[in-house]
Amino acid sequence: MCIFCKIVQGEIPCNKVHENDEFLAFHDVNPKAPIHILVIPKKHIDKFQNVTPELMAKMTPFIQEVAKILELDQRGYRLIVNNGEDGGQEVMHLHFHILGGTKLLWPQLTPDENKKYL
Ligand code: 5GP
Ligand code: ZN
Repeated sequence: MCIFCKIVQGEIPCNKVHENDEFLAFHDVNPKAPIHILVIPKKHIDKFQNVTPELMAKMTPFIQEVAKILELDQRGYRLIVNNGEDGGQEVMHLHFHILGGTKLLWPQLTPDENKKYL
């Protein structure tokens, strides 16, 4: 069983923010921003590439609810999905990162730096 399935089962504790029958939101153990939440489906899906439109249609309002609970809805937040190896995904159970609580930086690459990545 993967680490996030163990969190869903209660085998590993988490700092829960919100849940319903299908989704769970909890604080990231290694936050990259003042507020860093992970939103997961309770059902194991390995990555965004394999999520169905039907599940996403339900996940979207859940993410919006989480943002409201944390009072991020007015000032804003960043939503990130790392998908697969090149995307830097470490836990192979679909999760959305919600980052907020400050004005987040965005990498400003020079044209030369851009060439290295594009
Ligand atoms: P990824 O790199 O797969 O997109 O992100 C995985 C995230 O899960 C990381 O930000 C990491 O800090 C977080 N994480 C890994 N293990 C645990 C855990 O056991 N509990 C919590 N709350 N977060 C975890
Ligand atoms: Zn899982």
